[in-house]
Amino acid sequence: MTHAPHWYTQGWPHIWLPYAQMQTVIPPLPVTSASGCRLKLADGRELVDGIASWWSMCHGYQHPHIVNAIREQAQQLSHVMFAGLAHEPAYTLAKRLCTFTDMNMQRVFFAESGSVAVEVALKMALQYWRNKGEARRTKFISFHAGYHGDTMGAMSVSAKSHFNTAYDALMLRNYQLSIPTDEYSFAEFEQTIAAIRGQVAALIIEPLVQAAGNFAFHSADILSEIRRVCRDYDILFIADEIATGFGRTGSRFACHEAGITPDILCLGKALTGGHMPLAATLATQEVFDAFLGDAPDKALMHGPTFMAHPIACAAANASLDIFSSSSSESQSDSRVIQMDSPRIATSNSGNDVLNNAEALEAKLWDGLKQFSHHEIVVDVRVKGAIGVLALKEGADVYAMRRAFPGHGVWLRPFEQSLYLMPPFIISDTELEIVFSAIAKVLAH
Ligand SMILES: *Cc1c(COP(=O)(O)O)cnc(C)c1O
Repeated sequence: MTHAPHWYTQGWPHIWLPYAQMQTVIPPLPVTSASGCRLKLADGRELVDGIASWWSMCHGYQHPHIVNAIREQAQQLSHVMFAGLAHEPAYTLAKRLCTFTDMNMQRVFFAESGSVAVEVALKMALQYWRNKGEARRTKFISFHAGYHGDTMGAMSVSAKSHFNTAYDALMLRNYQLSIPTDEYSFAEFEQTIAAIRGQVAALIIEPLVQAAGNFAFHSADILSEIRRVCRDYDILFIADEIATGFGRTGSRFACHEAGITPDILCLGKALTGGHMPLAATLATQEVFDAFLGDAPDKALMHGPTFMAHPIACAAANASLDIFSSSSSESQSDSRVIQMDSPRIATSNSGNDVLNNAEALEAKLWDGLKQFSHHEIVVDVRVKGAIGVLALKEGADVYAMRRAFPGHGVWLRPFEQSLYLMPPFIISDTELEIVFSAIAKVLAH
């Protein structure tokens, strides 16, 4: 890093990076600003971001409507505790989320990260049964290759891998099953559920797309059958839409495509259009009602310091405005959106953001299919705004990570996946830059 800024060289000896062997880590690239789909580096280079900062930046960086909402909220009320005090951005957002998700959700519990939203979902499920006098239901069902976050409960329901082997001593003992793929494996799955149902509080799944695990997809039919089994055997169904929600799979939420509704729903990542940290755990009236009563220990005991942070909620409300506005003109004119602000999305209106996300499916396929015969590519799959090149075991993803910025692109392949999850606003020109960078990197 020859041209590294002062802050970088001064701070580097004190930084501990995520998921990184610090002895050999590729030094991170200093970013000074970002706009749309482009990151601006300290040395003046621009990179097209093909993964939307861990899939959160669905409308692109520095979206003027969201930035404006953040600025105004920071001036008005930057933070206030959520116990005993109330503020408009959170109350407005809770009501809007219940409508926008359109899954019969009635109550919203806010947190600051997806992992915590998952912890809250697990606590809710456990206590739901305890409150109903079934305290023996303490286990969870999750799936191989799933990913639900890095805190203890979330890690316990995620795939066992080198991401969590060091923490095995702290893990909860749950049931981890394979997502059934056909009638035969489904029958086996249902038999297993029938055998263990009495001990199980809930099943947790990333609907349609297992993201960070291995970017594997399953069908809407399988998903709706899994949902049915949970209902038949009285097991709560937790949909973790932290990665899939807000249009990423091509429909507003992955559960919509399967025509299902969960008992508990986790949201995060793109909830604020990626501009602020915020997550939420939503529950049906039925789940919520189990927590009512005179006994204090029936109440849900959770309360992050920065719960329902007003600036984050304002950003999320602004992001929902963008989803709800019906033309690209009103998206670029923030005054129009502001007048529309309190408007609540109608559940089946087509709009530009979701249309863009849906249209990306064909574009990603067009750009990625050329790599299907490449010797290190074993599979090409696309779902909505998610494109995946599954790589042969042993593919050197670290070499790829080093190479992409040299071709003007920010991609971060890991394990055996080279994936794209760009902002929905990515232009055809920018997509071309990404595809040609992949071609060059794979050629080496
Ligand atoms: C990213 C992710 C999480 C964890 O969210 P954080 O905000 O990183 O804690 C949980 N579940 C899924 C499906 C995710 O993709």
